[in-house]
Amino acid sequence: MRGSVLAAIPVNMLLGLASTWVAFHSGHGEAGAIWFTVSTAVNLLRIGLCRAPCLGLGLTPDTTPAMAAASLRSADRHLCACIAAAFLSGLVWACQPLLCEGYTSAQTLFYLVITCGITAGAVTHGTAYARIPLAFILPPLLSVTVCLVAAGDFDRDCLAACVLLYLLALTHTAFRSEAGFCEASRIKNEATALARSRAEAHASVSALADEMRRRATHDDLTGLFNRAGFIQQAESRLQAGAISLLLLDLDGFKLVNDVYGHKAGDRVLVEVARRIRAVLPGNGLAARLGGDEFAVLYDPAASGIPQDQLAASLVAAVAQPLDGFDAGRLGVSIGVHSGTEPSLTEMLSCADAALYAAKAAGRNHYRMFDAGLRERLQIRRDLERDLSTALAEADLEVWFQPIYALDAQTLVGLEALVRWQHPRLGWIAPPDLVVTAATAGLTESLLRYILEQVCAMMQILRARGLGTVRVAMNVSPQEMAQVPVDEIVIERLNRLDLPPAMLEIEITEETALDIAAVQGKLHGLSRAGIRVALDDFGIGYSSLSSLRQLRADRIKIDRSFVTGLSDSDDKRGLVLAVLGLGRMLGLEVVAEGVESDEDLRTLQTMGCPFLQGYHLGRPMPVPELEAKVFANRIAAA
Ligand code: C2E
Ligand code: CA
Ligand code: CA
Repeated sequence: MRGSVLAAIPVNMLLGLASTWVAFHSGHGEAGAIWFTVSTAVNLLRIGLCRAPCLGLGLTPDTTPAMAAASLRSADRHLCACIAAAFLSGLVWACQPLLCEGYTSAQTLFYLVITCGITAGAVTHGTAYARIPLAFILPPLLSVTVCLVAAGDFDRDCLAACVLLYLLALTHTAFRSEAGFCEASRIKNEATALARSRAEAHASVSALADEMRRRATHDDLTGLFNRAGFIQQAESRLQAGAISLLLLDLDGFKLVNDVYGHKAGDRVLVEVARRIRAVLPGNGLAARLGGDEFAVLYDPAASGIPQDQLAASLVAAVAQPLDGFDAGRLGVSIGVHSGTEPSLTEMLSCADAALYAAKAAGRNHYRMFDAGLRERLQIRRDLERDLSTALAEADLEVWFQPIYALDAQTLVGLEALVRWQHPRLGWIAPPDLVVTAATAGLTESLLRYILEQVCAMMQILRARGLGTVRVAMNVSPQEMAQVPVDEIVIERLNRLDLPPAMLEIEITEETALDIAAVQGKLHGLSRAGIRVALDDFGIGYSSLSSLRQLRADRIKIDRSFVTGLSDSDDKRGLVLAVLGLGRMLGLEVVAEGVESDEDLRTLQTMGCPFLQGYHLGRPMPVPELEAKVFANRIAAA
């Protein structure tokens, strides 16, 4: 609307100038000058109005309803003012008869044509809002009609009628144009709104996609890359040249979580991530691979920092005291791998092997991957590869170690211990075998394999009238966590019709720490009548409450407190304390690692109810057990 008014005003001025000029020529110079001055003043007023600020033009999608109402009121007021100004301008033009003696002078034709022209122009220009051109054309055309009728002759009367018709036609055209303009505006606005909403939808979809991409590659808690993001980034850097990989694993983090809670654990992880970032060279990449495991990848040559120096800085940074925590408890072990390997997976396993060795050396150590570790890694791989064949071909054996009552004569139990003689590598230590099974995904197969042998032993015992002898089977933390141990064991016992009371499951305190994860399974076993023993008691972090929660029936004092106990006051004190604890809580106590006659006697004097150790009997294969133990047994009543 403002645009059309502003476009029409120069024409209005030109025609006004022409009228004034003709008025001068025809001897109406004074009236012409006054008329032109008034006309110019009104036109200036209209220009001013069109340029005045109007609230209603500033509507945006986020305008509030109150602001929108105020804007609409302002726009309405503005329109009314423009109509009034147009009407004023129309009144000025309605005064043209003063310049041509009421359309009777010789210049009548000129003024009529000018009036018709300017009114037609106003309507053709003012398509946006019909009321403005109508307010403008009404006074001059009515004034023409009145003057013509007042002149009184027939021709002029006819002409006046024609002018009225003309006015009607213009009015009709103005409203039609306005309707057309509104429709076009509506379509245009809809198209703009559609385009805007599409742009907004596009922007929010892109933002969502960005966020999803970020989440897929970053760790929410620390903001570092996650495993997937790290692998992605590392793969591309690996192609660029020699890099070093450091795998970090926090020492004592589990304890922070258990003692201070998960929220505190999260704060520690965030702080550790911050410290890693602070130490990281500019070209480095840091990630949280999961839990309390972190990784760092960087180029030692480009950064000028050798990998052992960076590892030492990381160890020092993490070892700094943490606000609100017992500073002595958190540390980090680091495995470092440098140089080129055929793949990132290979680099990761090398660094992992170094990390494993660093952990074994105690907390706050780093270890470089070297030839020795490469050989060990190769052995582990050979083991992983050969274990499934060994399981399939029944190359693994289960040996049994006797457990005796206080008299060291009455056989009360047997502990099943797995044995594997690798054709090339010789005897494999059972803990290595258990770890190998876990990395090779054979945990459940191994458990089922050993369970079969344990069940077979239970059948032998029953057949020999030794049904009171209990068979103990070790279940590692990995087995407890990954395998439905309770279901498998109960199902097997039921199928073979073996009494659950003949079986005991030995779990280590390490397993017992993650109580929430194992509680359900242990309860299942205990409900079924299977007994639970807490193994290696004394070297972990067991609490009295965990003993109760785990429904342990028995504790096995770790052999490090038993072997050589006759010579050590400390050990004796500890064993006595555990025996007292057992009596108080109604738990049976077994002393493991009885290696000498002196230790045996000391334990007997202390009243230790159950005894196990090389001095009483080593772990042995079934035939040897039958010959040596069963033949001259005294079974418990
Ligand atoms: P553990 O459960 O504490 O088993 C007792 C270990 O102490 C056995 O070692 C046994 O041979 C050894 N031992 C027994 N008496 C004496 C002694 O008087 N002196 C000394 N020095 N050692 C003695 P082994 O068979 O090498 O097993 C080591 C560990 O491997 C076991 O410790 C157990 O945690 C694990 N393990 C063994 N067999 C199995 C199994 O079938 N499944 C699982 N998950 N773990 C097993
Ligand atoms: Ca054991
Ligand atoms: Ca043990």
